[in-house]
Amino acid sequence: MAVAIGAHVDQTDPVAEAAARGASLVQFFLGDPQSYKGPVVTYADGAAALKARAEEQGVDLYVHAPYIINVATTNNRIRIPSRKLLQQHMDTAAEVGAKGLIVHGGHVNKDDDPAKGFDNWRKAIEATDIKIPLLIENTAGGDNAMARYLDRIAGVWEAISTAEGAENVGFCLDTCHAHAGGNPLETVVEDVRKITGRIDLVHCNDSRDEFDSGADRHANFGAGRIDPDLLTQVVRDAGAPVICETPGGAKEHTSDFAWLRDRL
Ligand SMILES: [Zn+2]
Repeated sequence: MAVAIGAHVDQTDPVAEAAARGASLVQFFLGDPQSYKGPVVTYADGAAALKARAEEQGVDLYVHAPYIINVATTNNRIRIPSRKLLQQHMDTAAEVGAKGLIVHGGHVNKDDDPAKGFDNWRKAIEATDIKIPLLIENTAGGDNAMARYLDRIAGVWEAISTAEGAENVGFCLDTCHAHAGGNPLETVVEDVRKITGRIDLVHCNDSRDEFDSGADRHANFGAGRIDPDLLTQVVRDAGAPVICETPGGAKEHTSDFAWLRDRL
């Protein structure tokens, strides 16, 4: 089965990083994932040149938005800058010709009604000029997360379904986050698809921690706690491009790709 497999890489020359791994897709950050500073393109010749180079080499680019973005929160001082940062990343990701912008589901505060978070997601989708697919990713931790457990993912999806631009919102399924977040990998692809109707991208990662531990710590394939057959089954069932966000560089990623391809 010909599943496209790539990795999360440094953004300085993503096309070269793809070549070093024999990959047809790569993902990267546009700057510091923990900062509210706007996106930066460090590719020497700029965004348009990167887009042209990736097209010429047949490499699909994906951009991962900063981790600190939380458009669901009831805290204005986080939600408002988060929306602004999301739009900035959307604009720059579109400039580099990315196939998708991945953003975490975020969370509301401990005592908040999750419904407020769902509605904030709807407002964020309404407010964002979605130029390329926006892929909401499931997360591993937190008690009041928007995209850890299935019922919350369903709440987000129902809320955004009425928003203008919702047709350009997709889903990124992270296997480490699903496992550590407490969603059985045996059924997660089917369960998510029932809610979202789509899985656009898989973040394929092993997990250093136990099922439902809530810990977001990725591991190389076979080095973590996920049953290898289940990891492979998710990739096969999802039928979407795969990004490995596993530790290491080209060498480790290449061996993770081989591990996965052997089992597929
Ligand atoms: Zn991920």
